[in-house]
Amino acid sequence: MASIILPASPSESRPGRFGVYGGRYVPETLMAALVELEREYEAARADAAFQAELSSLLHDYAGRPTPLYFASRLTGQLGGAKIYLKREDLLHTGAHKINNALGQGLLAKRMGKQRVIAETGAGQHGVATATVCALLGLECVVYMGEVDMARQELNVLRMRLLGAEVRGVSSGSRTLKDAISEAMRDWVTNVRTTYYLLGSALGAHPYPTMVRDFQHVISKEIKQQLLEKEGRLPNAVIACVGGGSNAIGAFYEFIPERQVRLIGVEAGGYGPALGEHAARFRGGVPGVLQGTFSYVLQDEDGQIALTHSVSAGLDYASIGPEHAALHDTGRAEYTAQDDAAALDAVIRLSRTEGILPALESAHAVAEALKVAPTYGPHDILVVNLSGRGDKDMGILARELKL
Ligand SMILES: *Cc1c(COP(=O)(O)O)cnc(C)c1O
Repeated sequence: MASIILPASPSESRPGRFGVYGGRYVPETLMAALVELEREYEAARADAAFQAELSSLLHDYAGRPTPLYFASRLTGQLGGAKIYLKREDLLHTGAHKINNALGQGLLAKRMGKQRVIAETGAGQHGVATATVCALLGLECVVYMGEVDMARQELNVLRMRLLGAEVRGVSSGSRTLKDAISEAMRDWVTNVRTTYYLLGSALGAHPYPTMVRDFQHVISKEIKQQLLEKEGRLPNAVIACVGGGSNAIGAFYEFIPERQVRLIGVEAGGYGPALGEHAARFRGGVPGVLQGTFSYVLQDEDGQIALTHSVSAGLDYASIGPEHAALHDTGRAEYTAQDDAAALDAVIRLSRTEGILPALESAHAVAEALKVAPTYGPHDILVVNLSGRGDKDMGILARELKL
């Protein structure tokens, strides 16, 4: 069956495994549900009608293809490589999350599930899920840590307006990790009627593969657009990495193109010590968290470490398993930018290009500011601008004393 929007076939040699990473580490009660999900997803991706429906919603509803914009003033200021921005911030609901929410929402509907649950940190995935549920006529419950509900109040209100029920989570650190645990508990209890719409390239198989497939459209478009504009591939693609969905989406098409550098940017927070950042490749070690084997920030006893980032979307103790494999093989490079650099990048991009990036995306912009001058004027960097910054105005007003 011709591929319309999803990659033709997955690159991993064993389903759900990326080198030694990935897999399915869940309670017995969820095994059957994950096997069913895998089977249904495989059937959907082989169905041209499913792909055609997704493709048309991505186009007419979400706003794809997103532009690949040449940032000429920023390029001129830095005096190095040409910088292109992939404008995922222009999508409906303001970030790349809608690509995955639409794909999985259609799958839930196809599977006959009437109830959708999701977890959310900053609220962006919750808003995307609530949006898709409204569109498809599905019931929606979103789990969110109480700390996150307080710092992302606008998104809580948006979800409620869209008809979703937002359930506050008061256990643990009351942030994303605890919301995921609560969503998994709900799923175990209601698995027959309920679809769990996971928001990043994380969790047990088939989620990391499926979410990556739904985000792959980003790199597919970058490649086409850049070939049209420049007649060549980029020297490097740069993306921020929380769970890893926007980055794997921006990288995937280029993985076989060995000459293209793939640079993932983690949250450096405010310091290098455990608890001060969310850079899993700076101090994390392989371990299992929430269904998958990957790098995890943990203490010597294996207790999950607290993490910090000014951007809630990058503030998580583990990273998608495909990134763990890309890291170990050296195919992708991972670096970190700290809170201060991300805030500087927000100001820089806002005032140079009139584009207000999400704090998450600003980590990728900060890396580009550093890397661009090391290249020449014929070289090309693509920065994946995963989302827009409006949601961060409260934090920005406080941090930048606007
Ligand atoms: C959620 C989010 C992220 C982080 O999630 P990934 O799965 O790593 O992409 C990055 N940028 C924006 C704008 C987000 O909303």
